Amino acid sequence: MDLQGNKNRIIGERVGSQYGPLLIIFSQIHGNEPAGNKAVNELFNAIDEEYIKNPEFEFCGRIVALHGNMEAIQKGVRFIDKDLNRSWLPKEIERIIKCDDPNNLDSEDIEIKENLEIINYYIQLYDPPRVVVLDLHTTTAHGGIFTIPAPNEEARRIGLAMKAPVLHGFLEGLNGTTLHYFCDDNFEVEMTSVCFEAGQHQSSDSYKHAVSAIINCFKSIGGFYDKDIESKHDELLLERSKGLPLEANLIYVHPVQPGDNFKMVTTKIYKNFDLVHNGEVLATDINGDVKAPCSGLILMPLYQEQGEDGFFIIQPLVQRFINNEKQSSVISGII
Ligand SMILES: [Zn+2]
Repeated sequence: MDLQGNKNRIIGERVGSQYGPLLIIFSQIHGNEPAGNKAVNELFNAIDEEYIKNPEFEFCGRIVALHGNMEAIQKGVRFIDKDLNRSWLPKEIERIIKCDDPNNLDSEDIEIKENLEIINYYIQLYDPPRVVVLDLHTTTAHGGIFTIPAPNEEARRIGLAMKAPVLHGFLEGLNGTTLHYFCDDNFEVEMTSVCFEAGQHQSSDSYKHAVSAIINCFKSIGGFYDKDIESKHDELLLERSKGLPLEANLIYVHPVQPGDNFKMVTTKIYKNFDLVHNGEVLATDINGDVKAPCSGLILMPLYQEQGEDGFFIIQPLVQRFINNEKQSSVISGII
């Protein structure tokens, strides 16, 4: 297998001096989220500089960073024909892999085909003991950072090690995300996946959060050694997660259909993790007011045209908050 014209999808890769895990980083599965691209370039620069500054530096395994949705990136949009992070469906992928005529594939089908070609190429080439897929995103809303792990204990462990709130239950309300697909069931190698939401799309800090999260992720799976990693990464992520729940469950997803004319209210601009009360009017659509069906913390309110989810509501899983703060008065109202 060779990659031929598909090489442009590879943002970069670094190989450690010792055998170890393969970390695949997806940057811009959504084309309008450029922080991931800046973050992986920053990461590769940091690795190169470390070799110069620190002659003892070494790591285990391999890091490969990929442009997720290349056509959407070129056009600066979330997606072209369909949301790539809702399109990793095994039956669809079977169809895409079997299809030889590109005319029968839509734009995101081609993105899936090319991404899988590269990932399978590296699995064959490197024969890693395990693979972790880290999917980097940002949100339209401002507010805290968070991770969403695949539904297994190892992904949760990696999520907690990344030092941002770990959110559960998202996969039950959605289909075809990278977290659904990149798991043991679909590959002949030990595989799991974690998604990191690094902040607001345009925020100048989002890429920094992503750099620190990637470093923590790779450290947690035995790639980087503890001794080589500066504490500033933990400090930055803990600072940005201060007072947010250590872990939380998804309680409600508000779906948006084309033609709903869904719009968040303009009387208040919601940030991620803002408290909302049962019955609070959050948005309007063709049927009138859209109210919160329960109290909780709002996440990813839709402030852009493209997207299938209007907003999410989560509730803290346990009364543990990052930086060991007592639960803030804001959050105490909903537990
Ligand atoms: Zn995204």
